[in-house]
Amino acid sequence: MDKQDTRTSLEILLSISRELATTLDLHTVLSRILTLSTANIGAERASLVVLDENAKPVDAAIIYDGKLTPNTVNQLQDVVANGLAGWVIRNKKEALVPDTSKDIRWLARSREFNDPSQAKSALCVPLMAQEQLVGVLTIVHAGVNFFTEDDLSLQHAIADLSGIAIRNAQLYEYSEAVQKRYQELFEDSIDPILITDLDGKILEVNHKAAQVSGYTEEALLKMNITALHDLKAQSTGSHFDRIPLVGMVSYESSLHCQQGSLLPIEVYVSKITSLGNPFIQWILRDIEVRKDLDTLRGDLTAMIYHDLRSPLANIVSSLEILSTLIPMEDDSAIKSVYQIASRSTDRMQRLINSLLDINHIEAGMQITEKNPVQVGSMIADAVETTLPNVLSKNQNIEKQVTAGLPEIIVDEDMIKRVLINLIENSSKYSPGRTDIVVSASRIPGAVQFCVDDNGPGIPEGFKEHIFEKFNRVNAYSTRKGLGLGLAFCRLAVTAHGGKIWVENKPETGSRFIFTIPVG
Ligand code: ADP
Repeated sequence: MDKQDTRTSLEILLSISRELATTLDLHTVLSRILTLSTANIGAERASLVVLDENAKPVDAAIIYDGKLTPNTVNQLQDVVANGLAGWVIRNKKEALVPDTSKDIRWLARSREFNDPSQAKSALCVPLMAQEQLVGVLTIVHAGVNFFTEDDLSLQHAIADLSGIAIRNAQLYEYSEAVQKRYQELFEDSIDPILITDLDGKILEVNHKAAQVSGYTEEALLKMNITALHDLKAQSTGSHFDRIPLVGMVSYESSLHCQQGSLLPIEVYVSKITSLGNPFIQWILRDIEVRKDLDTLRGDLTAMIYHDLRSPLANIVSSLEILSTLIPMEDDSAIKSVYQIASRSTDRMQRLINSLLDINHIEAGMQITEKNPVQVGSMIADAVETTLPNVLSKNQNIEKQVTAGLPEIIVDEDMIKRVLINLIENSSKYSPGRTDIVVSASRIPGAVQFCVDDNGPGIPEGFKEHIFEKFNRVNAYSTRKGLGLGLAFCRLAVTAHGGKIWVENKPETGSRFIFTIPVG
């Protein structure tokens, strides 16, 4: 290459680099590389295949007599797999083919780009960016021996510029896609989202923010976030200085809607960075439904308390008075009727108390009625309560309490109800004439209670679910039940710091186990 040629090459490279620098659109970049490469070398045709990180073709374009055909990945698949381009991709080396008919790397194809009647010589270069292969460029000419070594080195230099231009365009395309996706998520969010500066001035809002607040987007963009909701300065800091850079703070508040109404909301606040600048993102979740449910829960508790509990207490005391007025010992029929009524009211009382406990514990209330309780006598009471049921099915119930167990500090009525629930379930779900064993033993840091039966056991996939509210193994079981018993047991045991779970016994049947910590 003489001096004159070198200068020309440098000029070509400079003008190509300028041309490529003016756009970040991938298809424009591809078309410029093809046009400039063919024009500078004087070839009629060229193809460019863009590759992903696994060297699979993801985009391609062909130029033929100055006419560009984009999106030609499918047409160039076999060239990339088997042809000259494939060889260049695999070897990451350029290739100069003076005569295509004598080069086995040339894939003879009768149509389109590689028409053998037209493509007599070829030049193919890998396009690299930061040592990674991003594409392959093939230039062909209808004459044999058309390309020179100088053409190859010039094309090599053009390839370096092109590789970087393609990579930049790909990165730009990727960041555009990410930005678009964020914008879509922002707009489609079911929660109102607002972006503010560090002083709380609203800079961006999504559609939902306008819909829920009743303000137009333009009106919101003139407001400060503090005018839109009651700020909890103890969570955010009065100058938003407590909002973390990683993670978020959340608090309950009220949204001041345009019509003057207040909407209960949960606010999630986080700091975000965009193009190096810090902003604050506010997600204002509408919690009206949750609040309504809380009110409903309160109403239900009040209803159970006043409308069910008090009349039931009256029935219980009336039965007691009756039992003193009517001499039962002499009349077995009256005694039996009395016992049925009394057992039924006890059951109802336990059910109501468990419903109330579920409500209280779920609402986060602590157990206050804790006293030292003897394990043996509590188990004896529970067994005695369930005995009529168990005997009516001809089942056998046994107690196994390790001697010398420490007292446990619990709400006795509540933990006894846990035991009664487990024993009643064992009896209910097991066939007649089977055995139930209630046991208690010492384990490190706790007393462990077990209720064993010879029933059907619990299918593997249900072992966790049965402790959730309204979950039953067989929802259509003929055995009556709401699926609340075990949910109560779990809440009661965990509120005492213990654990509850179920295991299947090796033979048949289940073992429900719970622990109560002891000091
Ligand atoms: P309920 O008995 O009202 O359905 P529970 O919460 O007490 O509700 O029990 C949930 C489910 O767990 C029951 O429906 C039953 O399918 C299953 N289950 C509970 N205890 C036993 C047991 N000892 N043996 C077999 N299945 C049981």
